[in-house]
Amino acid sequence: KVLEKCQFVKSVYKLEEADMPLLPEIVLAGRSNAGKSSLINALTGRNSLAKVSRKQGKTQAVNYFQVNDMEVKFYLTDLPGYGYSAAGRDKQAEFSSLTDNYLESERPFACILVLLDIRHLPTNMDMAMLQWLDFKGLPYAILLNKADKLSRAEQQKALQAIRRVLPDYAQQQALFIVSSLQKETLEPLLSYIRKIVAD
Ligand code: GDP
Repeated sequence: KVLEKCQFVKSVYKLEEADMPLLPEIVLAGRSNAGKSSLINALTGRNSLAKVSRKQGKTQAVNYFQVNDMEVKFYLTDLPGYGYSAAGRDKQAEFSSLTDNYLESERPFACILVLLDIRHLPTNMDMAMLQWLDFKGLPYAILLNKADKLSRAEQQKALQAIRRVLPDYAQQQALFIVSSLQKETLEPLLSYIRKIVAD
């Protein structure tokens, strides 16, 4: 069952603008086009709560959605997509300072969900994100997204290939194979989210 009572709160371009009451946060991180917006829509059952971008690298804001699911309040927080820069390839090596500052900000992060495309091995930016989350001791989980693009057998192959390149510490984390187009794939993730925000 999808998350209840979700609404868009605001887009934040500077950390100081994130002045809403603190609540547990489920944060979505991933490359531009990894499917963060689509996942927010799918998790909330709202087709256009988050804007699905046709162009890569559009959202350079942190977008907040407040959820009040079975009387538990939390935020779904959408970070700027990384790995794409209008300035060109050589400028892609760093996360935006907004992303950096945000994850440094000691909010009550319940979990950072790192979205990877199940069809591709993690990029250097994905690896850098995982390494950084681990270094900071932040709680995170890995989502292999767009699973609808592969058959069951291909999904298992892709999972093994991705596991082979993930560092040891990332292997210890929760991992979900999901698709925003296949609602049933979201059930384990929904249970996980409900469990960690209630803790
Ligand atoms: P964001 O940049 O991470 O917010 O990604 P979007 O949600 O805007 O999605 C980027 C593109 O991938 C869009 O064309 C979506 O329709 C597509 N997409 C997102 N999630 C899925 C999925 O689970 N399956 C498939 N097949 N396409 C997806």
